[in-house]
Amino acid sequence: MSSSKAQEIRVRIGPSPTGDPHVGTGYVSLFNYAFAKQQGGKFILRIEDTDQKRSSPESEQAILDSLKWLGINWDEGPDIGGPKGPYRQSERLELYREQVQKLVDSGHAYWCTCTPERLAEVRKRQLALKQPTGYDGHCREENHTAGVVRLRTPQDGQTVFTDALRGEIKIDNSEVDDQVLLKSDGFPTYHLANIVDDHFMGITHVIRGEEWISSTPKHILLYQFFGWDAPQFVHLPLLRNSDKSKVSKRKNPVSLEYFKEAGYLPEALLNFLGHMAFSFQDGREMYTLEEFVQEFKVERISLGGPVFDLKKLLWLNGRYLREKFSDTEFVSYIQKQLFSDNYLNQIIPLVKERVEKSEDFLEYADFFFKASVLTDPANYSLKSITEKRPLIKLYEALIEQIEALRPFDKDSLQATLRGFCEAEGLKTKELFMAIRWMVTGKKATPPLFETMAVLGRERCRTRMRQALGELKK
Ligand code: GLU
Repeated sequence: MSSSKAQEIRVRIGPSPTGDPHVGTGYVSLFNYAFAKQQGGKFILRIEDTDQKRSSPESEQAILDSLKWLGINWDEGPDIGGPKGPYRQSERLELYREQVQKLVDSGHAYWCTCTPERLAEVRKRQLALKQPTGYDGHCREENHTAGVVRLRTPQDGQTVFTDALRGEIKIDNSEVDDQVLLKSDGFPTYHLANIVDDHFMGITHVIRGEEWISSTPKHILLYQFFGWDAPQFVHLPLLRNSDKSKVSKRKNPVSLEYFKEAGYLPEALLNFLGHMAFSFQDGREMYTLEEFVQEFKVERISLGGPVFDLKKLLWLNGRYLREKFSDTEFVSYIQKQLFSDNYLNQIIPLVKERVEKSEDFLEYADFFFKASVLTDPANYSLKSITEKRPLIKLYEALIEQIEALRPFDKDSLQATLRGFCEAEGLKTKELFMAIRWMVTGKKATPPLFETMAVLGRERCRTRMRQALGELKK
């Protein structure tokens, strides 16, 4: 890929802290990191927290922890402090507002006061007429000074950009929406903040997922309107399930926290993610991050839909454990992973009462350590909901709440689960028993909320999703 000699290579990732740290973030980070390190450049972490309602500090922390766990360290960004960080978009609002004003002044953007009701009506009409949906330009010629700011997309012509892997991509401007750039809460949208930051942070190459290709014309227009040079674009192929659908938590675990907790080694996960779009010329399957950095070439990224096949990851993980770990390392790994003082200290108070000799411990506490606790799916049924579909829907909604629960402790679990029963008109006793079966595989256990809190969010949600999978069969 071309780059002028004098220019420092600077790449970034821009995860949004709006949920679990996604395996896709690990994948995109790996490729950005490899490119930066190989070129003697900088890898920057920028937290894109412009969605005030959905962003949370816990989620940001989970992203940082997961990247550190993978061994992907950033050169600039949060946690580093000093003049180079932290890079959080919520802390740069003034910059975005100034830049938006420039676009309004030059006529490339305009204020729009359309209500959500009007926008919904426009959309409804467009759908009924089978027209492409998007803003109808109602406020384009008005001179409002409040509301939201929209991009004034040219009515004709094309926007063209080059993707390093896919070549030239052209799109008719008539298909590009008058995108909102500044929201009425004063926060920028992703598109505006992303472009302004890439420019001011001197980003030379944007390496990101394929799902952003359709947004790129808007970004190119913004670069043109600001009079800035655009970076080079590389869109990585999307990770897919074996049925070719985009990876999602409904089909596979996708949280980096899951992989960490379930006992996958970061080395194995990195190799697996590397294989998604790149192969070593000598066919090697296991390599260190440094070796990947050495071997990596943007030109050799393969676009053939990578399949996120967990069996392959398991196989690699097993090889790492057996081939790279001495017996002593294996012992300390298992101790740390499964029997840490911290975990045991939380379990003991829950089972102590029943244990008479040490051997009994496993009898009562086995489910704290197992990979799967599946039982007969009849245990997950509810008398009050006899049909399968509504039952599945109910559990989907419940799992969503469990996944979003932060902090994940006894009190928050109690409030959430009781609240759920009330909202759905369910008997607590019945639902709690089904949940108990799902998360422990047993009928009798220590108190449910305490037990779930010790198991932790990741184990609980994974087990509940596994149980749901059984119900769906
Ligand atoms: N905030 C976007 C994300 O969550 C960043 C996309 C980009 O790299 O431009 O993935």
